[in-house]
Amino acid sequence: MQFNQFNFHPKVTSGITTAGYVTPTPIQAQAIPKVMQGLDVMGLAQTGTGKTAAFALPILHRLMDGGRKSVRALVIAPTRELAEQIHTSFEQFGAATGLRSITIYGGVGFGPQAKKLKQGAEIVVACPGRLLDHIQQKTIDLSRIDVLVLDEADQMFDMGFFPDIRKILSHLPKRRQTLLFSATMPNEIRKLAHEVLNNPETVQVATAAPADTVSHALYPVPQHLKADLLLELLRHTDTNSVLVFTRTKHRAKRLGEKLTGSGYQAASLQGNLSQSRRQEALDGFRSGKYQVLVATDIAARGIDVSQISHVVNFDIPNTPEAYIHRIGRTGRAARTGDAFTMVTGEDTAMIRAIEKTLGGTIERRKVDNFNYSVAAPLKQEQPPRRPRQQPASRKPATKVSGSEGAKQAQRRRRPLSRTTSPARVG
Ligand code: AMP
Repeated sequence: MQFNQFNFHPKVTSGITTAGYVTPTPIQAQAIPKVMQGLDVMGLAQTGTGKTAAFALPILHRLMDGGRKSVRALVIAPTRELAEQIHTSFEQFGAATGLRSITIYGGVGFGPQAKKLKQGAEIVVACPGRLLDHIQQKTIDLSRIDVLVLDEADQMFDMGFFPDIRKILSHLPKRRQTLLFSATMPNEIRKLAHEVLNNPETVQVATAAPADTVSHALYPVPQHLKADLLLELLRHTDTNSVLVFTRTKHRAKRLGEKLTGSGYQAASLQGNLSQSRRQEALDGFRSGKYQVLVATDIAARGIDVSQISHVVNFDIPNTPEAYIHRIGRTGRAARTGDAFTMVTGEDTAMIRAIEKTLGGTIERRKVDNFNYSVAAPLKQEQPPRRPRQQPASRKPATKVSGSEGAKQAQRRRRPLSRTTSPARVG
């Protein structure tokens, strides 16, 4: 199948050509025809599968007909970075359409956003909090919305945005098309989907499984030697662009500084930074100015940097779903990538849970010539806080259907590395 089979408006087709897309990804092939028919869609897709274009292209096509200068498509996303990314895609695909997209999120001035809204935009990509501010200040009119997209719904739930989203929904016309995308489908998302979607079509690609272009490895190491081991890994691995995850903002900042002090072009991306510094870190990572970006989960959610060669979990994530999201940053758009996870004795239960979700054992690796027996300094750095136990009702559904369960059992028997030999270490 090729993009020209969708019969997009020629001005949308021109944007697809400029982007260099020829063959739709599986989620695009499934979702685009349904969205073009005006149906409600629930998309179960991990990040990196091409879901942005899966909704952005048919929305642009739909907006070519009908009025201008009023907000007709609203996309709600959990983070500013993701909102910017979606907006950039609309601008890129819609360059010839004359349709305007703007972003609405906190941490930057309210006035310029209100001004742009007044000047007229057909597409708004927003984070929930600031959007509600605009609704309350009556600087946005949502009465002409034709299409609503809730992107990364599971992340919005984790971030506590659902009450805001429900308030926003009460300001939208009842007659509209709604698209909901989520990487996982815990009960709360199902409930929201039931509330907001009308007779939805479900499209699904490889839920709860990372792209098979990623190879995984665990590096057992004492807590106090993690930074040294990371430096050793960076020294001896053929890395291109490395995204490192820590559990806390503080650890992200400290590790970023340590890497810079050791001569790496590194930056950290965490919630304590101003929006302009977050953007600078992200742009610098994207352009190659920074070889290493150290980030927390929330800061890095959804970021699309296609050439990331390695994801390093400096701290193991809190849930198997978070593991999948993190490593979804590498191996994007069919490139290959490596996911390294540093683990301590305390991480055994989480490793087991991750392996269960992935359906196989992850290779344990030791770095040659690295001294694992260096004693901890007397005044040891506080270990990261253990993840809070998720209340039962918030636990994402990990149940698999019969055939998927069988597939997982089959996968469990094989290791998760690619067959090509992993980057040599040590
Ligand atoms: P997304 O999941 O929307 O963040 O997309 C992941 C990456 O895949 C982005 O860098 C997109 O530009 C790229 N991509 C999406 N769809 C296609 C396609 N049909 N052909 C080539 N690249 C694509």
